[in-house]
Amino acid sequence: MTSHDIADLKDRLRRVRASAEVAGVDALLVSPGPDLRYLTGYDAIPLERLTCLVVPREGDIRIVVPALEVPAAMASAVGQLDLEVVAWQENDDPYALTASLVGAAEHVAVDDHMWASKVLALRDAMPGVHQVAAGPVIAQLRMRKSASEIASLVRAGAAIDAVHAQVGGFLEAGRTEREVGADIADAILAAGHVSVDFVIVASGPNGASPHHELSDRVIERGDTIVVDIGGTMPDGYCSDSTRMYCVGEPDAEVYEEFSVLRLAQAAAVASVAPGMSCEAVDAVARDYLAEAGLGEYFIHRTGHGIGLETHEEPYIIAGNHQVLEPGMAFSIEPGVYRAGSHGARIEDIVICTPDGHLNCNRRPHDLIVV
Ligand code: ZN
Ligand code: ZN
Ligand code: ZN
Repeated sequence: MTSHDIADLKDRLRRVRASAEVAGVDALLVSPGPDLRYLTGYDAIPLERLTCLVVPREGDIRIVVPALEVPAAMASAVGQLDLEVVAWQENDDPYALTASLVGAAEHVAVDDHMWASKVLALRDAMPGVHQVAAGPVIAQLRMRKSASEIASLVRAGAAIDAVHAQVGGFLEAGRTEREVGADIADAILAAGHVSVDFVIVASGPNGASPHHELSDRVIERGDTIVVDIGGTMPDGYCSDSTRMYCVGEPDAEVYEEFSVLRLAQAAAVASVAPGMSCEAVDAVARDYLAEAGLGEYFIHRTGHGIGLETHEEPYIIAGNHQVLEPGMAFSIEPGVYRAGSHGARIEDIVICTPDGHLNCNRRPHDLIVV
């Protein structure tokens, strides 16, 4: 962590407190997960023992930590954030301890990833307090990426691009999706990710299921193949990119349909700019496909935000009036799904910039024939 990173984290803690106050929240409770990592730089392992950041409306911000986890907490940025670390011993009640740090409160927000067992134990420890979800409060910060977060997403994009550059070499008639998927998973790690988050190799009819992962289906000549892959980089930021492949020449109708999808995706990417709403970006892709008679086959939203999680705010979907601002990062991934036959999707991670957008994924968008 550089001093600049520490200053960033301190600023996030200041801003999240302000965001909580606007939402009428008296205290914010954040357990291990992406929100804790975002606010404190502490990538804590989620355990049954309670670790909990306590951000009250006023006064000191503290973090409740099991005594045996204190060295790990202090080794993270927590050690440089001027946070009071409140350790609890094996026989202490960490929930009563947390309640005492919260003090008098009417509304307490718990992070979206907190285990139900902990939410319920906190409820018991603070009878009469109304619990609300902290997701919207923290999303106000997380969906507006800083320059260093944008750099992280660009690096993640380059890493997954390096994997797509190799995928053509893994695909071959006679191999199973699972065999290809194993090669891709190795390549995701070799490209600099610390974890493989998902590997979708959806060949032929399996392509019609958007979240099909891997199966023992043997790839045949003429199959189109949806390859949607992603991982997490050492700094916690995620990659996610989809390209389309075909083993041998596709038939003309499939190629025609793919060409329309490619234009729909490009049009939606081109529309990204400050002032555009999330639902308007969704409509660009959707209307384009509908115009070509493919509307009924596009069965999901156009995209999702991405950062420390693969799916986060803002969602690019009808009904989301959120207006895009510089720093918002999300996928643009329209698709066409024909049950029993095949599917197609093209996906890039795009970041809204002051004068338009930045595409994190630079691989060609053509149907790649192998
Ligand atoms: Zn998805
Ligand atoms: Zn995606
Ligand atoms: Zn994806």
